[in-house]
Amino acid sequence: NQGIGSWPARRARKTPDRIAIVHEDDEITYRALYQRVLRLAHALRALGVARGDRIAYLGPNHPAFLETLFAAGTLGAVFVPLNSRLAAVELAYNLNDSGSTVLVHSAEHTETATAAASGTGVRHRITLGPAGPGAAGYDDLLAGAVSDPLDEAVAPDDPCMIMYTSGTTGRPKGAVLTHANITWNSVNVLIDSDFAGDEVTLVVAPLFHTAALNMTCLPTLLKGGRVVLLGAFDAERVLDVIERRRVTYMFGVPTMYDALSARPRWPTADLSSLRTLTCGGAPVPARTIDTYLARGLAFSQGYGMTEASPGILFLDREQTSAKAGSAGVPHFFTDTRVVLPDGRDAGPGERGEILVSGPNVMTGYWHRPDDTRAAVTDDGWLRTGDVARTDEDGYAYIVDRVKDMFVSGGENVYPAEVEAALLTHPAVRECAVIGVPHEVWGEVGHAVLVLEPGARADAEEILAHARTLLAKYKIPQTVTFADSLPRTASGKIVKAAVRASYAHP
Ligand code: ATP
Ligand code: MG
Repeated sequence: NQGIGSWPARRARKTPDRIAIVHEDDEITYRALYQRVLRLAHALRALGVARGDRIAYLGPNHPAFLETLFAAGTLGAVFVPLNSRLAAVELAYNLNDSGSTVLVHSAEHTETATAAASGTGVRHRITLGPAGPGAAGYDDLLAGAVSDPLDEAVAPDDPCMIMYTSGTTGRPKGAVLTHANITWNSVNVLIDSDFAGDEVTLVVAPLFHTAALNMTCLPTLLKGGRVVLLGAFDAERVLDVIERRRVTYMFGVPTMYDALSARPRWPTADLSSLRTLTCGGAPVPARTIDTYLARGLAFSQGYGMTEASPGILFLDREQTSAKAGSAGVPHFFTDTRVVLPDGRDAGPGERGEILVSGPNVMTGYWHRPDDTRAAVTDDGWLRTGDVARTDEDGYAYIVDRVKDMFVSGGENVYPAEVEAALLTHPAVRECAVIGVPHEVWGEVGHAVLVLEPGARADAEEILAHARTLLAKYKIPQTVTFADSLPRTASGKIVKAAVRASYAHP
């Protein structure tokens, strides 16, 4: 088995007594992880799971998530992590789309899982804990199965998982990631982010998203470190766990880091065990980086997408100050290009779409040949849909999504740049900028602002501040104040929902 299903066996051979997974008060060694994965694989095989079958998981961050992934990989089956925040009808879409035959879910998700699975190809439900209505019990299955070694032939290019994109710009698409994709991504991370064998990695972002699973959890397990799984994000609890478990590494989306540093005990929390913090998945506000650097922490940034397993660019922690705002340079085995609309390569400072190629890039979308064709250039580069520019040293800056750009008076406006400027006003907590129709200019910006609690500022004052930072055509013409912004489970602003609510102010 040359797939990631073999990792627990290889780790159990090398470091059997090290702790692999910590969850609440449970500590699972690599030896125990391997035994549990074998038992689950035997149990799944007894339920009829064979090579190429899809096994879905619905639930919070939990050891069973990782055990199901590795057990699927042991059998040559394909793992399908589901977004635990979706409604039953949305989950039914994912189950049908992926053709999953087994659904492993948490007890809290019983109702949603039952509703979602009915009418799909799911033949078996397995619930964490004891058996439930219509579902086998995960613990019973493990207890009743043998832990004999299994040697299914799995090749690096076999599919390992179907991972759904975040659905920020439309319906989530299933990216087919092979064992080689996932392995090369982990290798890239291990090379670029100096993970150590004694790493204690906090995994608090949801594992069904690519960053938590593939940038954080799997590289740690490949290296023989320890992952501490938290089921949900709670800033106070995260600070507790960092202190109690002596966490050395964590990944978070920008909103998580902002929530941590907003806690009253942030200045005095014991963060001395932390070696590196990585942030990404959405534009990282300059003030977030400043807050963490001022606290004496090493803060690195990454840019990627589900389709690239996901690591594309990485800004080393040594460069965080010198190249503030940059998402870095390509990962070691990965290449990028920035191309202009006419297909020429962009020079330094020129804005164009960023393309990616490398052993971590997916083979295609599951059952969506048209989307796959549209996403890949004739010479095999994947279009990211993001606009970037590079500086003279080759450091890339993500400007915005191609889809979010609008044109005002013939000039391209990238809302992310305008948002970054608005966020430098101390009263602005969150903001979203969209293009709205305008008789003279075609489109103009409209800003939706969420103020800091207790802050007072009127629109004119905030726009006056923006005028000191941006060209006139970029300044929003109208402003709405809101209590919150629509976000995905991974904390990204859903621009389509903002447009639907505010496009006609
Ligand atoms: P969908 O493809 O379904 O619309 P999505 O693109 O948000 O959703 P993901 O694969 O989770 O799904 O996210 C990848 C996207 O996240 C990138 O294409 C980019 O737009 C954004 N992104 C990731 N990292 C960064 C970063 N460091 N800075 C700015 N944007 C980022
Ligand atoms: Mg995308």
